[in-house]
Amino acid sequence: MVIAGGGPAGMMLGLLLARAGLRATLLEKHADFLRDFRGDTIHPSTLQVLHELGLADEFLRLRHTKVRQLAAAFGGRQLPIVDLGRVGVRYPFIAMIPQWDFLDFLAAAARAYRGFELRLQTEATGLLFEGERVIGVRTHAGPLAADLVVAADGRHSTLRAAAALEVIDLGAPIDVLWFRVSRRPDDPAQALVRLDAGSIVVMLDRGDYWQCAFVIAKGALEQVRARGLDAFRATLAQLMPFAAERMREIGSWDDVKLLTVQVNRLRTWFREGLLCIGDAAHAMSPVGGVGINLAIQDAVAAANILWKGNFAPSALKAVQDRREFPTRVTQQFQLLVQERILSRVLAGDADAAHPPLVLRLLSRFALLRRIPARIVGVGVRPEHVHSPAVTA
Ligand SMILES: Cc1cc2nc3c(=O)[nH]c(=O)nc-3n(C[C@H](O)[C@H](O)[C@H](O)COP(=O)(O)OP(=O)(O)OC[C@H]3O[C@@H](n4cnc5c(N)ncnc54)[C@H](O)[C@@H]3O)c2cc1C
Repeated sequence: MVIAGGGPAGMMLGLLLARAGLRATLLEKHADFLRDFRGDTIHPSTLQVLHELGLADEFLRLRHTKVRQLAAAFGGRQLPIVDLGRVGVRYPFIAMIPQWDFLDFLAAAARAYRGFELRLQTEATGLLFEGERVIGVRTHAGPLAADLVVAADGRHSTLRAAAALEVIDLGAPIDVLWFRVSRRPDDPAQALVRLDAGSIVVMLDRGDYWQCAFVIAKGALEQVRARGLDAFRATLAQLMPFAAERMREIGSWDDVKLLTVQVNRLRTWFREGLLCIGDAAHAMSPVGGVGINLAIQDAVAAANILWKGNFAPSALKAVQDRREFPTRVTQQFQLLVQERILSRVLAGDADAAHPPLVLRLLSRFALLRRIPARIVGVGVRPEHVHSPAVTA
């Protein structure tokens, strides 16, 4: 089997299949995993998967911070919205850890198995066909035959395009600007979503810095830039008064990275000889930071079904059948948050005196807070590792 893409989905699938005794060749176009501002959130469900693989303790020895609760702040008012302590899981927190550390960790675990081969700087450029059937991939280094190709090559998947699979676009009214500012010991303790004056910023505690996501209306980057860096810093200072003077750390627009938000999924995730998983099958909104989670869950489900070596279309369909429902429900939840909360705040329709109804309900009823905590932390119909382990 050839897996294209060494992100969370491809790496976890490679590990699980090699662990079950299969040969898995993983192609990653970059020379390493060192890329900034990717998803760095390892949720309770992924920690549970690592636990089932006997890897959780070792993983949690890597340097990380823990997010247990999330609150929405309107002006001085704080509304609790997510509390992972209430969902009855083994690891009731999100481990914030650079994605490259996570991927390096999985790669090291996978290399313990003979069947695993990681080819860095190897880009899959297209598919090889025999009639309608996919029989391998093209790479710059030459063609590579495979009994199954797994496209785990992310939201701009080359392979899903080469397979002409239909993408259903669900729309996203927002984009996100990522940046960081330093964090001090006396800063607020928990992760925060600040909503004010038509602006939204999410702040994630990364130990000595805050990883910040500033939410803008879709396509509004040029307007934000036209107003100038000083105006941008002033808006942020208003949202994060405790760090107002630190906004000078944003030295130029080069320190601000745009994430063009997409929410989509494939109508059919496979064709004979090819299966798409992770972002290649469904790009998620950043709401809830669940992209890695879903990518890992797809990999676990795929391994549970494919480890016996049956790659017939019926087996590939079984993977889609298993994962499409959780994907749909999660995307519906994200669309609800985008429309009912984020778009309203950005349009100036909500303020400290009138938070959106959904937030008021969540802050008032602790029982209701279990719903986002469950969707974000555990996911819908969480997967467990059933594929076996050969001796490493
Ligand atoms: C700026 C940003 C911030 C994000 N923040 C969060 C967050 O906080 N929490 C969260 O859960 N998710 C977040 N996400 C989303 C999350 O990173 C993805 O949902 C998740 O990584 C998907 O995993 P994946 O393995 O499917 O794809 P990816 O992580 O995209 O991995 C695909 C891999 O394939 C490689 N590749 C691509 N094309 C080819 C090719 N043709 N041949 C070989 N290799 C190829 C890429 O280099 C990459 O390593 C964020 C995304 C971005 C862009």
